[in-house]
Order: sequence, then C-alpha cells, then structure tokens
Amino acid sequence: MQNRRNFIKNASLISLGGILAGKSDLANAAALSKFSVDTGKKIGLQIYSLGKELYENVPGGLRRIGQMGYSTLELAGYRDGKINNIEMAEFRKMAEDAGLKIVSSHLNPPVREYTASNKGEIADFWKKAADDHAKIGVSYIVQPGQPSTRSTEEVSLVCEVFNEAGRIAKENGLIFGYHNHDMEFSRVIPGGKEMVFGRRAFGRDMPKGTEMIYDGFLRQTDPALVIFELDVYWAVMGQNDPLEYMKKYPDRIQLLHIKDREVLGQSGMMNFEQIFNQAYKNGVKDYFVELERVSSGTQFEGVKGCADYLLKAPFVK
Ligand code: MG
Repeated sequence: MQNRRNFIKNASLISLGGILAGKSDLANAAALSKFSVDTGKKIGLQIYSLGKELYENVPGGLRRIGQMGYSTLELAGYRDGKINNIEMAEFRKMAEDAGLKIVSSHLNPPVREYTASNKGEIADFWKKAADDHAKIGVSYIVQPGQPSTRSTEEVSLVCEVFNEAGRIAKENGLIFGYHNHDMEFSRVIPGGKEMVFGRRAFGRDMPKGTEMIYDGFLRQTDPALVIFELDVYWAVMGQNDPLEYMKKYPDRIQLLHIKDREVLGQSGMMNFEQIFNQAYKNGVKDYFVELERVSSGTQFEGVKGCADYLLKAPFVK
C-alpha cells in the first residue's frame, strides 16, 4: 500500500515524466506508480550490491530498488566528486525521484599505507570528500577498506588518521565511520611485521601487547569522532560473534551491514533474528543490505531476494 505522500509524489512524477518524454502512456504511468512501496519497514541497500547492472540504467535501476521495498541507500564508487562518473547532485536527484534517501557513502583515501608523511594527503582527501558529501545531504561517510596494520604501532597511527577524518567529517556536519571485513579480526603485536589471523593466533605464547586490530580501532578512536559500521557477515568470517561486539559497544556500532554468504537467510550461518533484536535494543537507526557477486541469476534478483527475506521476517520492524 502506498501512503498519501508517496502517491502525490508519484503522481507528480508521472506528469513530469510524461512531459519530459513527450508522452504519458498508461503502461508508463502504471510502472511509475509502483515506485517506492511503503512497506512499513526501513530497509537500506549498499549499491555496490548491484555491481555493473545498476549502471546500465541508473534511474530505472533505482526505481526497481524502490519497488522492492528499499527506502535508503548507501553509496559506493565515490571519486573526485562523482559516483561512478555521475555527478553526485544528479545521483541524488535520481535517488529522490525513485523515492530513495541517500544516508551514507563508502569511500577510501587514495593510499593504503598510512605514514607520518602522507597524513596531510589523506586529510586533504577527506576535506574534499566531506564537502562533496555534505552538499548532497548524507549523514555518514564510511571507510570500507582496511589500511595496512602489521603492528600495534601501525594500528595506533591508523586510529590517529581515523580521528582526523572524524574531525573533518564533523566540521562538515557529517559522521565518519569505519566498516570492517574479516582481516580486522587478525591480531598484531608491538613491533610486528604481519597480521596473524585466526582464533589461535600466537597460541599460548601470545606476546605481551597482542591485540586484535578491530579492538585496537575501537580502543584508540575517539567515540565523539568515529563510529563503526559492523559488517555482521565479515565479523563471522573473522571468527567472531557480531552480537558480542554489538552488546559490548552499543554506542560505537551505530550502523550495520546486513549480509550473508549470498542472499540473506539462505546460508543458515547468520542469526539475523538475534542481530536485529540487538540492533533495536541498541537504537541502531540505519543498516544496509549488502550482497557480493551472486553465483546464479542477476544481482538485481539477489538484491530482491534479500528484500523479500527482510520483508517477510517477523523480527524486522
Ligand atoms: Mg560490507
């Protein structure tokens, strides 16, 4: 069921679309009227999930996403003020026209190795990026790529850089966040040369000062400047329990990536009911579905399968 606001918006889109296209055939109107269904649930999508398929027809693709029941987006593909070569203001307009709100964006600084001498270059990247994103009205800018962290010293340096990114974001009215994969659950040691992955890393001989990288990030970033977007699937792949982290850091983990091996709910390895229950308890306002490459069918079909799972799930409010 559409609500009145969407109906009015869609009705105006139909007439505008008709004028622009020089036609207003019924089929076109019928398709347009299905934009942005009001499901009563707030479901976000990380657009990376659609891969290249989205860029075959961005306005049409965004409308399909709205029709599936998604209402918010997290961008990917930022570079030099554009999202995959599309002006950000134009991208926002297309999203709005499809009834979708852009809440967040994924972006990485140009270097992976952080050093004392390139901190300025990284800060310059965040200044431009924060300015570009403030203009389109997102709330969050999130770094999804792990910088080099081979020792506890490197973890500390990365946290300094994250704090600076957080300060820059804040000055622009945004919130800076960090998104994990699995290797953040590796351990490092003081003076170390490599990350060591796995529950038994360093075994019984765990040297003094050994720390899991993700724990180091949480400990050494300023809660007033840096939030965390926990990718629940990658936490599991990192041999850790996302729930444990959500319970331990309710104020730090403010965003989630809701992800499974492929389409949500199919692998059986993710306890989404407990994850959602904890997210509501913690007051998490936004989460984004993420899907990597599907092994059969299209990305759009996979993304629809994820929406269907969440729309059906009684534990998703
Ligand atoms: Mg993710």
